[in-house]
Amino acid sequence: MNSLPGQMMQMPLLISSLITHAARHSGDTEIVSKRVEGDLHRYTWSEAELRSRKLAQALVKLGCQTGDRVGTLAWNGYRHLEIYYGTSGNGLICHTVNPRLFPQQITWIINDAADRVLCFDLNLLPLVEKIAADCKTVEHFVLLGGRSQMPAQTTIPNLLCYEELVEAENGDMVWPTFDENTASGICYTSGTTGDPKGAVYSHRSTVLHSYAAAMPDAMNINSRDVVLPVVPMFHVNAWGIPYAAAMVGCKLVFPGPHLDGKSLYELFEAEQVTFSAGVPTVWLGLLTHMQTHRLKFSSFRCTVIGGAACPPSMIDTLEDDYGVEVVHAWGMTELSPLGTLSRLRAKHLGLPKEDQRRLLAKQGKAIFGIDMRIVDGAGTALPWDGSVSGDLQVQGHWVVNTYFGISGSPLQDGWFPTGDVATIDANGFMQITDRSKDVIKSGGEWISSIALENLAVGHPAVHQAAVISVAHPQWGERPLLTVVLKPGASATREELLAFYAGKIPNWQIPNDVIFLPELPHTATGKIQKLKLREAFRNHQWSQP
Ligand code: ADP
Repeated sequence: MNSLPGQMMQMPLLISSLITHAARHSGDTEIVSKRVEGDLHRYTWSEAELRSRKLAQALVKLGCQTGDRVGTLAWNGYRHLEIYYGTSGNGLICHTVNPRLFPQQITWIINDAADRVLCFDLNLLPLVEKIAADCKTVEHFVLLGGRSQMPAQTTIPNLLCYEELVEAENGDMVWPTFDENTASGICYTSGTTGDPKGAVYSHRSTVLHSYAAAMPDAMNINSRDVVLPVVPMFHVNAWGIPYAAAMVGCKLVFPGPHLDGKSLYELFEAEQVTFSAGVPTVWLGLLTHMQTHRLKFSSFRCTVIGGAACPPSMIDTLEDDYGVEVVHAWGMTELSPLGTLSRLRAKHLGLPKEDQRRLLAKQGKAIFGIDMRIVDGAGTALPWDGSVSGDLQVQGHWVVNTYFGISGSPLQDGWFPTGDVATIDANGFMQITDRSKDVIKSGGEWISSIALENLAVGHPAVHQAAVISVAHPQWGERPLLTVVLKPGASATREELLAFYAGKIPNWQIPNDVIFLPELPHTATGKIQKLKLREAFRNHQWSQP
């Protein structure tokens, strides 16, 4: 058979095309940022694009070359956006690092990615001063601020000023064209056991993910929206919003580090935000503030909630009391991150409200570009009947194939194993029922149970330790430490918890300790976490 080649232009899917499009076709649309200092900064997509080009020039002057990694420790703001585009657009790799991790974890990740430049927000200066000497590959530290914000004295060698770097350039460069499969960004997931692993996104995967994210059955954002990503830009690129927003040309509002209920509410109202996205814990803070002060939203219409299971009561409150549509979503760093979103189909519109809500509380249906299945232990696909649960696997255009610097592929039979356990119903709605990976997700941030166990067994009185995740009303999940003490040894709950102080961030310290005569083991000698989780499913936290 003689195949006929398609006769369309070949234009690589490049991240620079997103911001070029936003500047050319929505150039006067605003980007508003609450800065670390507390004031509001406003400019437009066309100014953002110009400054991204200037930044690209400045990074070349610093010696950066194609493929080099530029790290960020920064909150949601316009300078962070410029780094997204100013790096990837010119063939560099944007590496967002989570500043909430412990300093040693941050250094490990920066060294693993071999970042050559590290850009950071003003209020993270003390953190960077602490880690700078250990960031072996970083040649340039850049403070995201102006000359007046530069510290009079610092231990960071040759600290550079972001505004000076950008303003020294004329923007006279053209975004280069290259292969769309080139790496554009890297995000580390600490969501699995062992060391964090880097998911390396490509220009192609990022642009395709943006199309999918903006679609009506996904985030459903358009040029008339005012979008405020509460989800941090260091959490899987704020779930792709900085890219999708450029694609649709909407107004963006960045909250900086100010994520408390009062600050968020005031920003939502002042900027007439229509759409947002974040983890459940953030909405709890906002709702508590609104309930206490009897406030209502005047523009907010829809939010995506994901990163952790959204409690059904949160969907009810936002929809019934505040008129905000909730779209429950599931994703992962390895999926850029969007996988499924929960939205009703036409056939569900006539269902009683309780039945609709039951569907909406599930993690939802796969979007085009992602396929999913559940399998048993032998890898055999299981039925979609809403009751049989199995290991959730996915494949698609924006799913990792390998991890950065790690040989071998995590794929099984061409599918990526998510470490989540789920059911899929006859309508294709997926529901997470458990997790096979041994981690705790508290307020949208990971806590490694292994790290907590390793520290606990370092205590002289502890013989064995197992840390499990238990449901918590505010944080979604919190770590519970179960221990077996050495014969004749004694230790109190308080002593064991105090033993963690200074070794991990305070928010990772378990909330409670259970002393057991022995831990349940499998035939092969592994601790049976499932049994422990079942036994303490209803554990009452002594300090809520
Ligand atoms: P993100 O936090 O941005 O979703 P991570 O890679 O840090 O990305 O975490 C992904 C994991 O978080 C999933 O594998 C799953 O365990 C959990 N998760 C994400 N969304 C949900 C959700 N809606 N319900 C339950 N668990 C979720």
